[in-house]
Amino acid sequence: MFAKIIIDQDVKAINQEFEYIVPDNLSISVGMRVFVPFGKRILQGYVVDLSDSYTYDEQKLKKIINTIEDFPAIKSEMLKVMKFMTKKNHLTMASTLRLFLPSEMREGKVKEIFETFYILINESFTPLKNAKNQMALIEFLKHNGKTASSILGEKFGYTAIKSLCDKKVIEKQEEKIERKPFIIETKDKCVELNQMQKNAIEKIDGEGVFLLHGVTGSGKTEVYMRLIERELEKGKNAILLVPEISLTPQIMSNFKARFGDFVALLHSGLSAGERFDEWKRIFSGQARIVIGARSAIFAPVENLGIIIIDEEHEQSYISETNPRYFTHDVAKFRAELNHCPLLLGSATPSVESYQKALNGEYSLVELPTRANGRELPKIQIVDMIGEIRNGNSGIFSAQLLADLNEVISHNKQAMIFINRRGYSSFVRCRDCGYVAKCSDCDVSLVYHKEDNRLKCHYCGKQYKVLTQCPNCKSYNIKHGAVGTEQVVAKLREYFPSVKILRMDNDTTSTKNSHQKILNEFRNSLPSILVGTQMIAKGHDFENVTLVGIVDADQSLFQADYRSTERTFQLITQVAGRAGRSKDEGKVVLQTYAPRHYVYKFVANYDYKGFFKKEANIRQTAQFPPYSRILRILFSDCDENNARELLKVCYTNIEKLKEIYPSEIIYLDAMKSPIKRIQNKFRFQILMRIKLDKADEIEQKVFDIVNKETKNNVFLEVNPTNMS
Ligand code: ADP
Ligand code: ZN
Ligand code: ZN
Repeated sequence: MFAKIIIDQDVKAINQEFEYIVPDNLSISVGMRVFVPFGKRILQGYVVDLSDSYTYDEQKLKKIINTIEDFPAIKSEMLKVMKFMTKKNHLTMASTLRLFLPSEMREGKVKEIFETFYILINESFTPLKNAKNQMALIEFLKHNGKTASSILGEKFGYTAIKSLCDKKVIEKQEEKIERKPFIIETKDKCVELNQMQKNAIEKIDGEGVFLLHGVTGSGKTEVYMRLIERELEKGKNAILLVPEISLTPQIMSNFKARFGDFVALLHSGLSAGERFDEWKRIFSGQARIVIGARSAIFAPVENLGIIIIDEEHEQSYISETNPRYFTHDVAKFRAELNHCPLLLGSATPSVESYQKALNGEYSLVELPTRANGRELPKIQIVDMIGEIRNGNSGIFSAQLLADLNEVISHNKQAMIFINRRGYSSFVRCRDCGYVAKCSDCDVSLVYHKEDNRLKCHYCGKQYKVLTQCPNCKSYNIKHGAVGTEQVVAKLREYFPSVKILRMDNDTTSTKNSHQKILNEFRNSLPSILVGTQMIAKGHDFENVTLVGIVDADQSLFQADYRSTERTFQLITQVAGRAGRSKDEGKVVLQTYAPRHYVYKFVANYDYKGFFKKEANIRQTAQFPPYSRILRILFSDCDENNARELLKVCYTNIEKLKEIYPSEIIYLDAMKSPIKRIQNKFRFQILMRIKLDKADEIEQKVFDIVNKETKNNVFLEVNPTNMS
């Protein structure tokens, strides 16, 4: 028997199948991980095929050394997914296969944990009179049965345990412990479906992609639960993806409350051991519903009945570092393999997805009103230039302050959204214009008041605070736009007796810190939660009656074709946190560009109007989804190397213009907007191509770059981050 094996090394040069002999003493099946000799080393590999013949030189064929596990860790469906992804995203096979296993397993780091128990095996034994501990221990085991060693040791001492063990009165037993992720417990809300939810559930059935467009609070989660329940009853399993699970602990709690141990969680907030144990529960079929962030799409679930992507418009579904992939593509492929529906849910679908729904490529299902019949909160637009004219140059408009006072006097809660962490966005010398920048990255530093440091948000490097300009020695230092820290500081000045919490990357670096902040917020009345986009999604706080958006324009004026769409989505999401229960909600939106079209549509909750306008602009300007953007990034510590490689590739890509004169809309080579990150110089080729020949051109571009470079090519399709 011979095996085809992929070596577990993410190296372009060995991205192929290698043949090995299967020795008679090993029982090998496709999908198993094995140790093989490779050159002078012993490496790990994946068995992807078995056959009776071979094509390689017989003299040189080597034998598989051993198996790593005695079961195929890569299931056959996942081998198909691997083939699909490597082709679609130009990835190496090894880097793709790695996505399917908990990294702990590959590194051999995770140990199963065992706990020691004792049971009584000789009930008739009577210890000596003065051996009081032994006597008590025997009595205890008689009443309580099998007990953990740690408990017995604490109660009766380890000497007693040992001597009874030696006398064969009690016996030691080892038992495997499963680590379980932490979850806030809630009760299952048994709601009765409304007619719209019922219609939605009826429609979402069978093969194909469904887009569920439901306003915030329309009860999408309940629809997900019923759909999954339906599939479980058929004996099938499900995957539910959420953008960032630690931000939406509620959804996990709700699912656990309804489905109990059928639910497994996979996300980055788990410890290595927890992730490994959850993965095994899924692998064995014990857990039948997988809930997780984007990488949970690679969970080893068999017999899928439905795949759901919640908040489908979120950028976190795009993996922008190698191995790059778009979660929707993988989900669609798996749904097709399993002949089951793929459901995309959102209050603000991406322009791309909605376009497909209008085309008939996806089936559109709508939930146009809130489940509890309440109105969506009124959005009031406040012109901040008008505020300055009226003599108010502070962070908060008079309107927002008045509404905050109102909330506090009624013992309610407010959320204040500011999508910038730290105290202020940059530090600049007022006299000469010097801006403090990171020495390793081409980006300005952000002031963090709490630890009185300047920080680089790209590499994390910290610097001493600037009081004097290093350039002109002036002490006239200005701070740029406000961040979360400053908003909190100012709010504390206005409302010294009110509980004010902050949630951003800086306050949530430790395990379960998200939950702690959210819990504290939930349990304090009145209170204000200040946060970045972390507070925008999913939260269902019944006492939040006010949402304040400090600087709505922040995401609007960025050199990115999706910036208006993102602004619309973000504001709709944040606004959706207000007035979800009995009390009416309100949103105060502060902007310096009150007449921008996005705000008119946002304030009217007019998604369709916005889509029409936005689609029109993109079509005219030939931007996605009406074209495809390709970006190839070259980065190197040596600036000249990067530049040279860029030139060679560009010259070759330019020749494609002869074959595709009208399909290539735009092609240029340049420095990247951020010229240096962590001391690597960055250059890029940027192109826009028409859709009809896009796959073909993309492949040719990849081949050109692939031929010229030693390393894995970094080719991005419709990147969200163009920096
Ligand atoms: P979405 O995800 O669409 O923003 P949620 O799923 O969070 O909305 O639902 C909002 C609230 O409405 C939740 O508190 C949920 O329990 C409640 N809800 C859902 N369906 C119904 C229903 N049919 N009747 C009453 N309340 C419902
Ligand atoms: Zn200066
Ligand atoms: Zn840096």
